[in-house]
Formats: sequence, C-alpha cells, structure tokens
Amino acid sequence: MFTVQCDFDDTLVTGNVGHSLLNAFASAKWRAIENLYSKGEITVEETNRREFALLNVTKQTLEEYVFETAELRPGVPEFIQHCASIGLNFSVVSNGIDLYIEPVLRDLISSTVELHSAHGKITENGISISYLDPYGIDCLDGFKLSWLRYFKSQGQKVIYIGDGKSDISASLEADYVIATSSLEDYFRSEGLRYFEFDDFYDVLQAIDTILI
Ligand SMILES: [Mg+2]
Repeated sequence: MFTVQCDFDDTLVTGNVGHSLLNAFASAKWRAIENLYSKGEITVEETNRREFALLNVTKQTLEEYVFETAELRPGVPEFIQHCASIGLNFSVVSNGIDLYIEPVLRDLISSTVELHSAHGKITENGISISYLDPYGIDCLDGFKLSWLRYFKSQGQKVIYIGDGKSDISASLEADYVIATSSLEDYFRSEGLRYFEFDDFYDVLQAIDTILI
C-alpha cells in the first residue's frame, strides 16, 4: 500500500498562504523570526509558533482572505480524484495551520483527504498553535518526519511531495520523492533520485511511473 504525503504551502498551492497572511495581518517582526529559521537557529515548528503569535485576524477575515488569494496548483483536483480511484491514501502534512488549510481543502473531495497540520486557535494575542504527532503527543520538532515514520510503521510505502527546507528530513526517509523549488535543488545537488514537478499533472505522471 502507498501513502502520498503532501506538503501544503508552495506545494499544493502556488504560493505560501501562511506568509501571505503574515504579510497582510502581522507586524513586520515576523521577518526577523523567519531569518532565524533561515539561519538554522530555530525549528520550523518554533518559527511558526512565534510568527503566528503576531498574526491578528478574525476567523472570517482569515477565511475571506484565503478564498480570495489561495490558488491550487493546476491538476490538484484531478490528482486527488485519481488517488481515490486507485486506492492511494492522500495525506496533507503541513507545518502550516488548519485555520487556513481547511478552507482550501474544503472544496476538494475532503472525505478522501487526510490533514495533519498545526492546530491554530485565534486569541486576543495572535494565533496560538500546537502540533500533535501521530501518537497525540506535543511535537516541537520534526512534525513532518514523525508522520512519515508513522505511515512507514503502518507498512505503507511513502511517496513524498514537497518544495522546501522543512521537507528535507522527511523526504530523505521516503520511498519516492516528487520535488520542486529548493527541495528539488537539494535532491539534485546531492545526486539523489527524485521526480520533478511544476503542476499536479506532472505529479500524476510521476506516480504512474512509480506504480508500474
Ligand atoms: Mg512548502
């Protein structure tokens, strides 16, 4: 059995919805935190915990913003349908927040899409977030990797789809990798095997090759 583990920002959607929200509704301080992450000083989970605490927005404004700006990569609905029809588990695992991911996934055939992401709560002082690993334990590091290892422990072969730095450790333990942007650069420069993609028609083609 195969599980497709798919990142959200810059992978399933064409941009980074989290960053767009921070640009629109948070103080510019979030960029300094992002800088710490780029330099490898804090984990992606800690980065998001600190950044989203700066995001002051109501649920309604957040959802309206997401509906207006988030754009799926071409071929996503067809791809998800394809997974359902051939019995592939499709699981979105993201360090992003359910508050902005769910409105995007709601339009897709959601019963076949699993979502594991940060759980966000809107408070008077920004959005407070928490990550739960597959065993329900608070996760402060390696959230994506914890889910990948869980799928593998269930006897699944994992096809990993992603774009960035926070996808590297999980994708290195995946059975197959379909990559774009800096994740693709990483796999290419390390001489590792991967499939590249721009849209989900490319992903579909890669999956067909993998499953032959
Ligand atoms: Mg991403």
